[in-house]
Amino acid sequence: MMEKIFERVESYRDFSVEVLSKLIEIKALSPENGGDGEYEKAEYVESLLENLKVRRYDAKDDRVSSGVRPNIVAELEGEEKRRLWIVTHLDVVPEGDISLWESDPFKAVYKDGKVYGRGSEDNGQSLVGSIIAAKALIDLEITPKLTLSLAFVSDEETGSRYGIQHLINLGVFRKDDLILVPDAGFPKGDKIEIAEKNILWLKITVLGKQGHASRPDLCKNANRKAMQLLVELDKELHKKFSKRNDLFNPPYSTFEPTKREKNVDNINTIPGRDVSYIDCRILPEYKNEEVIEFVKEFVEKRKEDFEVFVDVVQDESSPPTKEDSEIVQRLMRAIKVARNIDAKLCGIGGNTCAAFFRKAGFETAVWSTTDGKAHEPNEYAKIDNLIEDAKVFALLPVL
Ligand SMILES: [Zn+2]
Repeated sequence: MMEKIFERVESYRDFSVEVLSKLIEIKALSPENGGDGEYEKAEYVESLLENLKVRRYDAKDDRVSSGVRPNIVAELEGEEKRRLWIVTHLDVVPEGDISLWESDPFKAVYKDGKVYGRGSEDNGQSLVGSIIAAKALIDLEITPKLTLSLAFVSDEETGSRYGIQHLINLGVFRKDDLILVPDAGFPKGDKIEIAEKNILWLKITVLGKQGHASRPDLCKNANRKAMQLLVELDKELHKKFSKRNDLFNPPYSTFEPTKREKNVDNINTIPGRDVSYIDCRILPEYKNEEVIEFVKEFVEKRKEDFEVFVDVVQDESSPPTKEDSEIVQRLMRAIKVARNIDAKLCGIGGNTCAAFFRKAGFETAVWSTTDGKAHEPNEYAKIDNLIEDAKVFALLPVL
């Protein structure tokens, strides 16, 4: 039966190129990115799901002309009520600097086994892969063991409030569901992501006293104070939060001073205000709270006669999915059977839809095979990857 499934999936190669190309040409940008949402794209996707039980969970959003951000759920009933989900997103990011593209980002180009265009890899490849996986089972009249559920959601690139968070809040998912989010991957398809570092963005504001650069005796230089604080804080953070976890690359928490706001316009003025930011990616062994507490105590002790404020700009964390969870074990088996690959587990420093699932208590795996071209100019998807991943998707509810 496995061989039959693989052969059938292979036979959809041309169909996949055609569908993926069409998807690229229906621009689906969120209103935050200057677009009109995902409605038209969702209508097209829905037209491909004729033999599945389809439901819509659109979220109201007056900023787009359709008035809603579409979310589609499509089901192929299995022997068991328990569901295996494959969750992909409809929206894409803007093209970025257009001069870096060799073709029109919203006109698909098929060349050397790759489809080029914005959204081809992120998340078109897996979206089409999930459709042909279901199609193979339907065309072969195979009833999978688990019910196969596909979700096509909006708003992944701009916060997921109208997408996956909306579905989770509506209670669409059940605790015994198995969830795969194929929205990040590695070129060989040999890594399953089961954990994401906590994200913490801090804003540090130092207030001193502005004045003429020739009279520092009358001023308080916020720039110097901020630099001293940041350099020392950087050292202390790394020392204090020094645990290692080899699931991640790099295998430790990172604390990077990044943005600094502009201060004075001229060289001969001592700035009285300095605003800097630190991007922290923290191992799940620590709570963000501990880091915030540590930073606040640190500046309190060293601020002297300056005023220093610590603000939290972003604070996200989710528990890792267990290595022995059913979704991870099932996925490892399917990858082995379909591809003869022994997949390893890993964690990443970024954030996907999986974080929302994990936070809500759902065991979730992230896996796909990609060259990592998401958000880049000349983004492409390899059709071989699409097909090989679809074989794994099709096996998942069957095994
Ligand atoms: Zn994505």
